[in-house]
Amino acid sequence: MILHRAIAIDGPAASGKSTLARILSQRLDLIMVNSGAMYRAVTWKVLKTGVDPGDRAAVVEALRNMEVECGVDGLSSTVRIDGIDPGDELRSEEVNANVSAVAAVPEVRECLVSLQRDFLKLGDVVMEGRDIGSVVFPETPYKIYMDADPDVREARREEIGEVDSVAARDHADSRRATAPLKIADGAAILDTSGHTIETGVAAALAILKSQGFPIPADGEGNPL
Ligand code: C5P
Repeated sequence: MILHRAIAIDGPAASGKSTLARILSQRLDLIMVNSGAMYRAVTWKVLKTGVDPGDRAAVVEALRNMEVECGVDGLSSTVRIDGIDPGDELRSEEVNANVSAVAAVPEVRECLVSLQRDFLKLGDVVMEGRDIGSVVFPETPYKIYMDADPDVREARREEIGEVDSVAARDHADSRRATAPLKIADGAAILDTSGHTIETGVAAALAILKSQGFPIPADGEGNPL
């Protein structure tokens, strides 16, 4: 049962999900949940304990032995493993290279999807990921699938100096058996290739308005 409103933002790596989610969170006063950070945190711990991310049984065993805690700091989601916030290590080259394998393990998804749904008890949320509109909140009417040209997405990661094989992650994330990346039923597609951040946000607000989300207006009647 949906207690509060959930905006679901899905899409491939570097399509602009986090940027949009952060701005929507600020303008619409929503809790922003970065579900990728949760998969990254479990992957970080799997690597830290020396478990092979490709060994599904060992990953499940490692998951059983760790405590995954989610919370909110201001309007942003937080994740801790056994009391530790991995911080910048969530975006290390090693985590980037192994997160898709860990995220493909059904037991990992089951555990994290349950924690993701719990955020809705705290308030209205904007959650970004790969399966938010299809699996986590399939009932929500507010769904956006973001995309951008693969070259544009690779360039965005390079710009911030991150070593990340966007194409390999997208390939794995779209082809896995459990909750693959796909356009959820009812999702509106927003291609950000030719957009600036501001025009992308304006397009997203127009989509959400058309989906019935209450968007406050500025003094001149424009969406905030
Ligand atoms: O969003 P981000 O790129 O940080 O996500 C990292 C990885 O976590 C993705 O490549 C994917 O394997 C996994 N993920 C997922 N489902 C989500 C969010 C992320 O499988 N809802």
